[in-house]
Amino acid sequence: MSIKKLKSTGKEYLWGGTRLIKEYGKNFSMDKLAETWELSCHPDGLCTIAEGEFAGKTLSEYLKAVGKKALGTKCQHLEQFPLLIKFIDAKDDLSIQVHPSDEYALKHEGQYGKTEMWYIMDCQPGAFIYYGFKESITNEEFAERIQNKTLLEVLNKVEVKKGDVFFIEPGTIHAIGGGNLIAEIQQNSNVTYRVYDYGRVGADGKERELHIDKAKAVTKCTPPKRDYDFGTHLVSCDYFTVDKFNLGGKSTKKMSGTVDNTSFASILVLDGKGTIRAGAEVVEVKKGDSIFMEAGTGKFEVEGELEILITTV
Ligand SMILES: [Zn+2]
Repeated sequence: MSIKKLKSTGKEYLWGGTRLIKEYGKNFSMDKLAETWELSCHPDGLCTIAEGEFAGKTLSEYLKAVGKKALGTKCQHLEQFPLLIKFIDAKDDLSIQVHPSDEYALKHEGQYGKTEMWYIMDCQPGAFIYYGFKESITNEEFAERIQNKTLLEVLNKVEVKKGDVFFIEPGTIHAIGGGNLIAEIQQNSNVTYRVYDYGRVGADGKERELHIDKAKAVTKCTPPKRDYDFGTHLVSCDYFTVDKFNLGGKSTKKMSGTVDNTSFASILVLDGKGTIRAGAEVVEVKKGDSIFMEAGTGKFEVEGELEILITTV
């Protein structure tokens, strides 16, 4: 079998909600299921194989068993699995944060930096995100505003709607506002520098740690770049390419593609149900499912009333 349905790891954080449990079939007994890590070989949250011969094994164990070839030729030079894909249910606001580039993170953290993208799967009326600065400010002003807690005044607040896509380069300050349900595709890294957390305290009565000096070193104090040209893709960068397909309209309930030997593919099911077929293999999928297809799987077909994201390296 070269198509694998995955079982995610759940993360409970203070700002999480219950939508992933109630609407996306995620089976976790948590009051605030904030994130599910749908494609992950990161030690902080490994996903496992849901069905078949390798059921119960982690994706990392599976990849070790079948060999690096399953990742594709573009990944052969990488020491670590390259991607991390999550669903995020933000009932409340997330902290204001920034991620470093590979160059900075490898030097200071011993892991990759983080480029990420958000796809807004659903949101409440008035939901927003913070995305870069409204206007350029100096590094001194940035530092001052962190200190006197007035940073929000200069951030670029963007009201969002379902289907919006945001590409977040390293150094771009950002935060998810409450009321957003998001699919997040990112480099496999957990390096986040937090600069403001609304003064909230955790269960231990303490505020979470801020990483102000590192954030000052990596943050670009400018408005976000807006003139990206990703061609027909949602996003295409050095680390990942993401495409969206909406099947089940009047014209077509089917799409076909090829997973060649250059990269594995991830299929994230945002809505609906249907089947994925490759050769003799058929896997039933529904809203909330995550699928891993080995590099070299070849031709595949997706059929049904489905909204999906396909990600490759
Ligand atoms: Zn982030």
